[in-house]
Amino acid sequence: MSTRGYKSARQEGYLLCRHCHTLHTLDQQDKQCHVCETPLHSRMEHTLQRSWAFLLASVICFFPANLLPIMTFKSFGSGAPSTIMGGIIELFSGGFWGIGLVVLIASIIIPCLKILGMLTLLLSLKFHWRTSARQKTWLYRGVEWVGRWSMLDIFVIAVLVALVQLGSLASISPGHGATAFAAVVILTMLSALNFDTRLIWDKYAPTDTRHHDT
Ligand SMILES: [Zn+2]
Repeated sequence: MSTRGYKSARQEGYLLCRHCHTLHTLDQQDKQCHVCETPLHSRMEHTLQRSWAFLLASVICFFPANLLPIMTFKSFGSGAPSTIMGGIIELFSGGFWGIGLVVLIASIIIPCLKILGMLTLLLSLKFHWRTSARQKTWLYRGVEWVGRWSMLDIFVIAVLVALVQLGSLASISPGHGATAFAAVVILTMLSALNFDTRLIWDKYAPTDTRHHDT
């Protein structure tokens, strides 16, 4: 589908409530949605800066999340703190292939995919890469879809802790890496949430109606 020659909702004098998707006229800008009372904005202000800031913060937190111990697994009173990668290797060598694979996907592959996806999206807007609006939208949807599985890892750790504590032969306690990992998950989520997808349309608008912070 060609995006040439189309007019955006803003050019036609409309704006959409981001929360309940009710259509309003542009003169309702900065007022409240009459259905759900969310403040109405034709474009979110400083959305790209916020998206970038949260993304860079998540990249910074990604290092301690992987380098610091995420949990200490103690069996019969002895045990050393382990990092995410160390934990995955231990799970694999202990024959827990299923859990090891879930932890690998949830704690290394998903955050990497999410960070790389957001980075590609933001760079493509910044440097006007020759990708179509559809490709950018697919990328954003991919980031959103992948993000839904981010908390899987925390869930797996919670289940593991519960199982091990029940057995009472061993104990697991969370380390600082777990805090950093939770920060990565939350920050990438905020980066995606703060991204206003309508900015993608503006790049393809026929006349110059671009938002000031694009
Ligand atoms: Zn609404």
